[in-house]
Amino acid sequence: MAHWLFQEEHEMLRKSVRSWVEKEIKPYVEQWEEQGEFPRQLFKRAGELGFLGLTYPEEYGGSGEDYLAGAVFFEELARCGSAGVAAGLGASMAIAAPQIYKFGSEELKQRFLVPTITGEKIGALGITEPNAGSDVASIATTARDDGDCYVVNGSKMFITNGVRADYVVTAVKTDPAAGHKGISLLVIEKGTPGFGVAKKLEKLGWNASDTGELYFEDCRVPKANLVGQENAGFYYIMKNFAWERLVMALQAVAASQLALEEAIKYAQQRVQFGKPLSKFQVTRHKLADMASLIETARSLTYYALSLFVAGEDADTAVAMAKIYACETANKVTDEAVQIHGGYGYMMEYPVQRYWRDARIGTIGGGTTEIMKEIIVKKMIK
Ligand SMILES: Cc1cc2nc3c(=O)[nH]c(=O)nc-3n(C[C@H](O)[C@H](O)[C@H](O)COP(=O)(O)OP(=O)(O)OC[C@H]3O[C@@H](n4cnc5c(N)ncnc54)[C@H](O)[C@@H]3O)c2cc1C
Repeated sequence: MAHWLFQEEHEMLRKSVRSWVEKEIKPYVEQWEEQGEFPRQLFKRAGELGFLGLTYPEEYGGSGEDYLAGAVFFEELARCGSAGVAAGLGASMAIAAPQIYKFGSEELKQRFLVPTITGEKIGALGITEPNAGSDVASIATTARDDGDCYVVNGSKMFITNGVRADYVVTAVKTDPAAGHKGISLLVIEKGTPGFGVAKKLEKLGWNASDTGELYFEDCRVPKANLVGQENAGFYYIMKNFAWERLVMALQAVAASQLALEEAIKYAQQRVQFGKPLSKFQVTRHKLADMASLIETARSLTYYALSLFVAGEDADTAVAMAKIYACETANKVTDEAVQIHGGYGYMMEYPVQRYWRDARIGTIGGGTTEIMKEIIVKKMIK
C-alpha cells in the first residue's frame, strides 16, 4: 500500500523509475563499481527520461513536479544497489544545480542549469577543503577582485563528480576577514586555466562515483559566474542543506530495505544444523529488529519530508531524520553481513557493498555530531 504522503502520480513515477533502474542500471552496477565510475551517458539518459528535471520548472526543461517526486526518484534510484551511482546523479541534480536555480542569474541558469537538466553537463558542489569540513566558515580558498574577474587560489577536497564535472559551484572567500559572511559561490568551468584535478581519490565505498581533490592557482573566473550576491554564499549553502540531507536520509532508508531483503533471501536459502537460518529464532529476531529500525527511520524521514514540502521549518526534523536513517543503515547493513556469515565478507555478494556504501551517510552532508548541534541549538537558546 502506498504511503499517505504520496499521490497516484508519485506512484506512477515510482513505477517508471523502478523499471528504468531494474533494466538500465542494476545489471551494470558491478562493472561500474570496478571501473570507479558510471558512464557519462547515464546522465544523458536520466535527462532524456525527464528524471533530472523533476523538481525544476518547465521553462528550464524540467517538469515542475514537487519535492515528493524528487524523493520518489532518489528512493528508487537507491534500489540499484550502488550508492555511488545515486551520489553522482544526485550531486549534479540535487546539490550543485539547486544553487544556480535558486540564487543564480538568468544567464547562469541558461548556461548551466538547462544542460544539467538534459544531462549534457555534469555539476559538482565544492565546499569542503583539506582543512575545512564541518567548519564551513573556515574555508581558505580566496577569490580576489580583479576588474571583471575574480582570481581564485586554494583547493577543494572530497568533491563528488569532481573529476569529470563540467562545472563546480565553488565556495570561496571574497572577504577573508568576515568569516561566514565573507563566503561567495562561483561557478568554475572545466578547462578554465588554473583549475584542475589534483587527484581522483580512492574510497571505501561509493565506488561508482568519482571523488576529486581540486586545485585553483591564479584561476581567473568572470564575475558573471558569481551566484547571487557577493558574500551571501554561506546562507545559500545552508539553504539547500535541508534537501541534500533529506535525500541522504531517503536513500539510507531505501538502502537499508535492500539489505534487509537480501538478508531475508539468504536466511531462507542457507541451511545449517539441518534447517534454514530463517528457522532460528535468533535470526528471526534480527530480521524483526532490522525491519523495525527501517520502519522508524522511514516514518521520521517522511515526517521531515512532509514539513519540508509544506514549506515549514524542517531543520530539526531533517537533522533527526538524517541521523536516524543513516545510523540505521549502518546497523542494518552490518547485521545483513552478519547473517550472511563468511559469504557476507565476499565481494560476490552485494551486502558487503551496501555495508561499505552506508558508512558515508553519517559523515557526508554534515556529520551526525553536527546534526545533533543543529537539533540542540533550537532546544537551548
Ligand atoms: C565520499 C565523499 C563525498 C563527498 N562529497 C562532497 C561534495 O560533493 N562536496 C563537498 O563540499 N564535500 C563533500 N564531502 C565532504 C563531507 O561533506 C565532509 O567530509 C563532512 O562535512 C565532514 O567534514 P570532514 O571530513 O572535514 O570532517 P571534520 O569536520 O574534520 O570532522 C571530523 C570528526 O570531528 C567531528 N566534529 C567536527 N566538528 C565538531 C563539533 N563542532 N562538535 C562535535 N564534533 C565535531 C565530526 O563530526 C567528525 O566525527 C564528501 C565526503 C566524502 C567522504
